[in-house]
Amino acid sequence: MTHTRQDTFDVAVIGAGMAGMAAALFAAERGLSCIQIGNGGGILFASGLLDLMSIHPLAERRKWGFPFDALAALALEQPQHPLARIDATSVRTAFNAFVAALGKAGLPYAPLGKANSDVLTSIGTIKPTYGVPRSMIAGVKALAQRPPCLFVDFHGLREFSARQIVSTLGDSWPAARFQRLQFPGTEAVPELYAAHLARALENVETRARTIDLVKPLLGDAQAIGFPALLGLEHSVEVHAAFEAGLGLPVFEIPTMPTSVPGLRLLMALEAAVATRGVSRRHHSTVDSIVFDDETATIGLIDSPGGERVVARTVVLATGRFMGRGLVADRGHVSESIIGLPVHQPTSRNEWHQRDFLDPTGHAINRAGLLIDDSWRPLDAAGNPAWPHLFAVGSILAHQDWMRSKCGSGLAIATAWAAVRQITRQLYGDCDKAGEP
Ligand SMILES: Cc1cc2nc3c(=O)[nH]c(=O)nc-3n(C[C@H](O)[C@H](O)[C@H](O)COP(=O)(O)OP(=O)(O)OC[C@H]3O[C@@H](n4cnc5c(N)ncnc54)[C@H](O)[C@@H]3O)c2cc1C
Repeated sequence: MTHTRQDTFDVAVIGAGMAGMAAALFAAERGLSCIQIGNGGGILFASGLLDLMSIHPLAERRKWGFPFDALAALALEQPQHPLARIDATSVRTAFNAFVAALGKAGLPYAPLGKANSDVLTSIGTIKPTYGVPRSMIAGVKALAQRPPCLFVDFHGLREFSARQIVSTLGDSWPAARFQRLQFPGTEAVPELYAAHLARALENVETRARTIDLVKPLLGDAQAIGFPALLGLEHSVEVHAAFEAGLGLPVFEIPTMPTSVPGLRLLMALEAAVATRGVSRRHHSTVDSIVFDDETATIGLIDSPGGERVVARTVVLATGRFMGRGLVADRGHVSESIIGLPVHQPTSRNEWHQRDFLDPTGHAINRAGLLIDDSWRPLDAAGNPAWPHLFAVGSILAHQDWMRSKCGSGLAIATAWAAVRQITRQLYGDCDKAGEP
């Protein structure tokens, strides 16, 4: 299905975090003409792991091995949660489409199954997640079986310590050991950054020298863990070269943000939307939207000549406080572009619990936009603010993605559901566009 693009886009996506990228990707895959506005800064902080849902209910800190079981419980117990509004088949389809697009853009993920996987973090704790980059998957297996394993890091590398990982694992993984190496050519450099090393490993000679440093240390190791820096644009090739050169499963461990996996994710998503024909204004910020009966006219700042974009539908994917979709003054939270009403505690005293670590989280982290069944944000009277305005991702109310560990799931699944709704609204033929 290809819709003719004239001066008016079918969809304007505002925001280029995970939710905005997913919305632009899905819109383009459905054949809608799409423009995306905003930078992808938030994705740089991501670990590359795609969480769907692992903690529910928050007060009990109950951990779920099977995210779709968690979503089923959520739908019963917390029906206002955005993820409770989407059926499991759609969530699965959305994730599969997202991961397939990443794979085509050079960032392969392990096949998605039914269960969450446990992944080691850079401090040796364990994080359950759903979508795991292929470069990390051998670590999931190693963590489950705990064979003799070598963890490697590099002198001067910031915020990653193989020693710390092994120490945190302690008696739970007695056959884990660590080794710190001098990365080739960095003898005089006191501080190293993962992104620089990742790029350096794309050089065949540097890669071979690094592999040669590790080889004599293998001993009885049956797997080797590295900080996530095995290549940037060519990470598949670098990872494969390490496995071939060392003759063992090699896995990456996510580093602290901003991380190489975050950079890879951003690059892959940018490539994925670009190859699908999405127009991008990634240095621009939206400062106004004027709605008439049929179209929205979007004002951009930081764009040559004060460009205006006209679209038939708008997806607001501007995030929360970090993304600046929501802004707070001393007593009130507002939506930053249109001034949409924000669901929030009635007074500032209720924003936070007395105990910062209260397991139920803070009410301010569940603030956001209320929506109707079609993903359209509501005005003060409880009606859609504009019939063709949609909202997705972390700007939505009634969810605390950080605590529930559902960040990517929220972004991907809500984007999928809203774009399906948009396609129906515009063309009424979403079956033709690939709906299962
Ligand atoms: C530290 C950190 C760690 C994370 N780790 C994980 C993880 O392990 N697993 C996981 O699944 N997810 C992780 N995430 C990512 C998380 O999934 C997403 O950040 C979250 O879902 C929010 O995505 P979003 O797109 O809704 O909002 P944001 O990421 O906040 O994106 C909002 C976007 O809107 C843009 N914007 C806002 N206002 C305007 C405007 N006026 N004009 C134009 N553009 C605008 C911003 O520039 C930004 O691009 C992590 C995120 C962070 C910050």
